[in-house]
Amino acid sequence: NADTAMYKAKDAGKNKYVFFNHEMAAQLKNKIDVENILREALREDGFTLMYQPQVNIKTGYVDGFEALLRLKNYNVSPAVFIPVAEETGLIKEIGKWVIREAVSQMARWKAQGFDFKRIGINVSPKQLKEENFTAILQEILLEENLPPEYLEIEITESVVLDKTNDTIAIIENLKRLGVQIALDDFGTGYSSLSYLTFIPVDKIKLDKSLNDKFLGDGKVKVIDSLIALAHSLNLKVTAEGIEGMEQYKKLQKGGCDFIQGYFFSRPLTVQETENIYNKNFLQDMGL
Ligand code: C2E
Ligand code: MG
Ligand code: MG
Ligand code: MG
Repeated sequence: NADTAMYKAKDAGKNKYVFFNHEMAAQLKNKIDVENILREALREDGFTLMYQPQVNIKTGYVDGFEALLRLKNYNVSPAVFIPVAEETGLIKEIGKWVIREAVSQMARWKAQGFDFKRIGINVSPKQLKEENFTAILQEILLEENLPPEYLEIEITESVVLDKTNDTIAIIENLKRLGVQIALDDFGTGYSSLSYLTFIPVDKIKLDKSLNDKFLGDGKVKVIDSLIALAHSLNLKVTAEGIEGMEQYKKLQKGGCDFIQGYFFSRPLTVQETENIYNKNFLQDMGL
C-alpha cells in the first residue's frame, strides 16, 4: 500500500512492527519540529509573554493579567507547543523561564509605579508535580522581590481531579507560600463539583467552551448557578473567552467578578499593558 509506510517501532519489541499512515508520519515529524523549535527558543531567548487584562466587572478597571507564552519567531500556538513541551520534559525549563519572566515583569511594574494587583501564570500538571516546584517558585519570588500575593498560579481541573501524587498537598503548600490559586479551564472536566469544597483555591476560571455553550438563551442559569456556588464557597469567578456584548451583560447580571476576553482586550505587549493602566474599560465602552 503506497499510503502506508512501515517503520520498525523502537519500543515495540523485537519482531513487532507498527504501521503509520502519512498523517501519522506528518504528526510525528511535526512533533519533532516543534521540539526543535522549543530547544532553539530556550537557547536563543526565543520566548516572550503577552499579558491579557482581566477586567473587574464592578469597577471597570483592570484587576490583573494572565501571562500567555509566545514564540518570538514562530507562529505556533501554545495549545500546540505546550503539550509537546510536556511530553518531552522541556516544560520544566520553559516553565521556569515563564515564572522568572512574569515575576520580574510584575516586580518592575511595581517599582515603576504601575500598581497592578495580580499576574496569573499557567502551570502545567507535570510542572506542578516536579519535586521542587514550590521551592523554585519561592526562590524566584525572593530574588525578584515580589510579595507572593501578587502571583496567581493557574492550575487546570485535570490536576485537581488527579488524586495521585498528593496534588492537594502540593496546592496546600503553594497556599502556605502565600500565592493565589486559580482553577483554570473550569467546566471542561466531568467530575463532581464537590472537590471545590476541599481544594484550597481562590478563584475559578469559567472556560470559553462553557461560556459559549451556556450563555445562550435559556441556559444562562447554569452559569448563574456556578457563580453562586463559587461565591458561597468564598471563591472569585473569572469568565474566559468573552467576545460579545450579550455574554458580557449576562455575566454582569449573574454577578461574575472578572472578565477576560477579546470583548475587552486581546493579550497585550508590555508597552500596551502600561498604556491601559488607568483605562476604565466600562466607561470607555459606554457600559
Ligand atoms: P488558557 O490558560 O485557558 O488561556 C486562555 C486562552 O484563551 C489563551 O490562548 C487566550 O489568548 C485565549 N483567549 C482569551 N480570550 C479569548 C477570546 O475572547 N476568544 C478566543 N477565541 N480566545 C481567547 P493562548 O494564549 O493561545 O493559550 C492557549 C493555552 O495554552 C492556555 O489556555 C494555556 O493552557 C496554555 N498556555 C499558555 N501559556 C502557557 C504557559 O506559559 N505555560 C503553560 N503551562 N501553559 C500555557
Ligand atoms: Mg490559563
Ligand atoms: Mg483557561
Ligand atoms: Mg483553556
